[in-house]
Amino acid sequence: MGILRVDQVELKGKRVFIRVDFNVPLNAQNEITDDTRIVLSLPTVRFVSGAGGKVILASHLGRPKGKKEPKYSLSPVAERLSKLLEKRVALAPDCIGEEVRNRIEGMKEGEILFLENLRFHPEEEKNEESFSKALASLCEVYVNDAFGAAHRAHASTVGMTRYIQTVSAGFLMMKEVESLQKALANPQKPYVGILGGAKVSDKIGVIQNLLDKVTTLLVGGGMAYTFLKAKGFEVGKSLVEGDQIELSLHLLERAKGKIKFLLPFDHVIAERMDLQAKRGIVSNEHIPGDWVCLDIGPETVRIFSEEILSARTIFWNGPMGVFEMEPFSQGTFAVAKAVARSSAFSIVGGGDSVAAVNQAGVADKIGHISTGGGASLEFIEGKVLPGIEALRKDG
Ligand code: AMP
Repeated sequence: MGILRVDQVELKGKRVFIRVDFNVPLNAQNEITDDTRIVLSLPTVRFVSGAGGKVILASHLGRPKGKKEPKYSLSPVAERLSKLLEKRVALAPDCIGEEVRNRIEGMKEGEILFLENLRFHPEEEKNEESFSKALASLCEVYVNDAFGAAHRAHASTVGMTRYIQTVSAGFLMMKEVESLQKALANPQKPYVGILGGAKVSDKIGVIQNLLDKVTTLLVGGGMAYTFLKAKGFEVGKSLVEGDQIELSLHLLERAKGKIKFLLPFDHVIAERMDLQAKRGIVSNEHIPGDWVCLDIGPETVRIFSEEILSARTIFWNGPMGVFEMEPFSQGTFAVAKAVARSSAFSIVGGGDSVAAVNQAGVADKIGHISTGGGASLEFIEGKVLPGIEALRKDG
């Protein structure tokens, strides 16, 4: 694809900037709840270090909105990384500036320096030129292993590549692109798409694209309620995007006679989104006006699982319910297990679905776990990802 892989470039003695996506989920105590993204970039980090490169690692974490907020420090990630690599990884106080420059100056071959959150600088997301140049000046070789950030044209994913001679893709980036391409170019049928998560509006593009590709589309999670409302069901206090109802209806129309477009048939409901709230299970026709639907019900799990088990290709993005809360997690875990049991080539993307697959203990039974939620969706939509394009030097 006209992109150099990291093992095709000269690394020994070079200052090598590796853009990783270590934007991992953290709980209220700032503990990492899923380290998949770190683990999957280890081969690239180890390779560059082993080849005698001076490794400069850079990532974003959360949305600090351009301010230096301790809550978004990469220090828990540095700690986990040290543990995984079984060697101390130092965290720099910033990602640019005098001190960072001095620390890099003193690095030996194979050493690793982890830069502080790129998004502490508003210029990162603005892809600002002087910031891009400042990042580029830190290194001689650029490696992008951050597939999860490839759909963003930021300074560290696009801007800085203009000022570096040697740019390349890490092993994870390469694997992501090749796996997604494989599934998309010529998917074996039946092809089942599973979409969940909070909002229809986030996933319009992918729904439209999947309508032309899949055999069956299974929709669960919060986004299902806009569709159910569009079909005329009372959905109580469930998540509904009023301004998407018309479009949802249009999508359902487009799907008619073309593909199977399945919405939930029953639901786990609660008086409110709270662990202590009263709960129940109801079918579409009996959702009480003042309750909220927080997971797909057992009948839906059964029907969705049947479809999943007969698939030969599966793409899944987004949880089937508020799976972070145990009483509303069963639907998502059941789907994770069904995907694992199916003999289809499966791709699971998006932080929540990946976490569900890990928590269900079935990650090793998935064809490809994509570290990029938004990026894998945009890839599936057929969009050009700027972070990948930037790696194509001289066409
Ligand atoms: P997304 O980032 O769009 O994939 O959305 C993930 C979020 O959707 C998770 O935090 C879930 O808790 C949330 N979610 C899933 N199902 C529901 C639901 N029925 N009601 C409200 N939120 C939901």
